[in-house]
Amino acid sequence: MNEIPHLTVDLDAPGVSRGHLVVPGGADRGELSLPVFSLNKGEGPRLLVTGGNHGNELEGPLVARRLVEWLPVAQTCGRIIVLPVLNPLAVEAWSRNTPLDGLNLNRVFPGRAGGSVTERIADAVSRVLLPVADTVFDLHSFGPKWDFPPAATTHPIADPDLMARTVRMAQAFKLPLTLVWDYNDTAGMFDIVAQNQGKVFVCTEFGGGTVGADNLAIYEAGVRNAFIALGLVEGKAEYPTFRQRKSSQTLETHPYDELKSPATGIFEPRCSVLDEVKQGDLMGILHPMDSLSAESIDIRANGTSIVVAIRSGAHVHANQGVALVARPLKN
Ligand SMILES: [Zn+2]
Repeated sequence: MNEIPHLTVDLDAPGVSRGHLVVPGGADRGELSLPVFSLNKGEGPRLLVTGGNHGNELEGPLVARRLVEWLPVAQTCGRIIVLPVLNPLAVEAWSRNTPLDGLNLNRVFPGRAGGSVTERIADAVSRVLLPVADTVFDLHSFGPKWDFPPAATTHPIADPDLMARTVRMAQAFKLPLTLVWDYNDTAGMFDIVAQNQGKVFVCTEFGGGTVGADNLAIYEAGVRNAFIALGLVEGKAEYPTFRQRKSSQTLETHPYDELKSPATGIFEPRCSVLDEVKQGDLMGILHPMDSLSAESIDIRANGTSIVVAIRSGAHVHANQGVALVARPLKN
């Protein structure tokens, strides 16, 4: 039995190869084989595309599969590795975390060889795939309880040169939103491990978590735009149409930009993503349901900003997030 994570595909073989990333077994379960697609057209950028990091975000795996269909003809140079599903256990359960060990794969990087299954997946990806890529696209969705526009995101990066290159790469997707997301809970993220190795890492987020034809087309067009910008495929990058608009904006958001619910109840949104709001504008109403004498509470904007995420039809607890706003990125 081979106890080391490894590939059954030779990445140096020219052209298309299909195989698996083998994640060794452990105390909790046997080995996992994650399907991997490798396309080697020689010199050029080395790109890793992953999906299914979170199991309830299914657009990424579907877009990754589509890439496998047209890349063999479209790719002109470089090396692309596509791994549509990073965490098959979570995808099968339509669960953000792995049911077996309860862990969030995107918080356990770089993983642990002797750890539980989620840690072993992270370890295999970190040791086997990350070293052979210069750029990583990790395809996520924002989640099922939010409305969120198609976005290419990054977190702030200490190295200004890597930060600038990462923002440029994210903008090259030409999605409606490029978001620099200052976020407290980043320890153990795939992004951080890749960025610490000097790699350009873009995380795409797609709102809703409900897979639809229009959304998939926008998502795929964005990834194709990024391939064009990298020089991996030829063609003209175009803004995909999102809610009648063909445009893109680069914004930044910070932890204090999250609006929290003042009470427990049902949140009624009164604004839409990409709306500009000013101080005092009504963004939503919280309706307490435990007593009909309890008054509904207005939730108002606390400054000029752009709505980037809004709860859609969800029961929320007091102090849970109901909206996220952002402002143009300062250079
Ligand atoms: Zn995710």
